[in-house]
Amino acid sequence: MSTDCIFCKIINGDIPAKKIYEDHDFIAFHDIKPMAKIHFLIVPKLHVETLKDCKDVHEPLLGKALLLAPKLAESQGLVGFKTLINTGREGGQEVFHIHIHVFGGN
Ligand code: 5GP
Ligand code: ZN
Repeated sequence: MSTDCIFCKIINGDIPAKKIYEDHDFIAFHDIKPMAKIHFLIVPKLHVETLKDCKDVHEPLLGKALLLAPKLAESQGLVGFKTLINTGREGGQEVFHIHIHVFGGN
C-alpha cells in the first residue's frame, strides 16, 4: 500500500472504479480512458511499482495475473484480446503500480 498511489486508492475503495473482478490478490477494472471498445486493467493488490521491481517471490503473482487475462477477457465477451505492460517512464508507464492492460473488441 502506498498512500499517494491511485491504484492503491482504488483497491482501498477510496476512489471509485468500474470494477469487473476482485479476489484476495487482484482487482480488475475498466480503464478511465479506454483505448479500445473494451479496455481493462488487471492490478495486483500488492503495491509493486514496475515489472523491473519484481523478484522471484513475485513469480506466482505474475503467473496468476496472466492466467486471469483470458478469463476476464471472456467475461467481457472478448474472443481475442491484446495485453500490454508498460514498464518505467520511458516505457510509457504513468501509474507506478504494476498492472496489465487488456484490450479488445475493435
Ligand atoms: P500506464 O500508462 O501506467 O501503463 O497505464 C495507466 C492507465 O491507468 C492509463 O491507461 C490510465 O487511463 C489509467 N488510469 C489512470 N488513472 C485512473 C483512474 O483513476 N481510474 C481508472 N479506472 N483508470 C485510471
Ligand atoms: Zn499502489
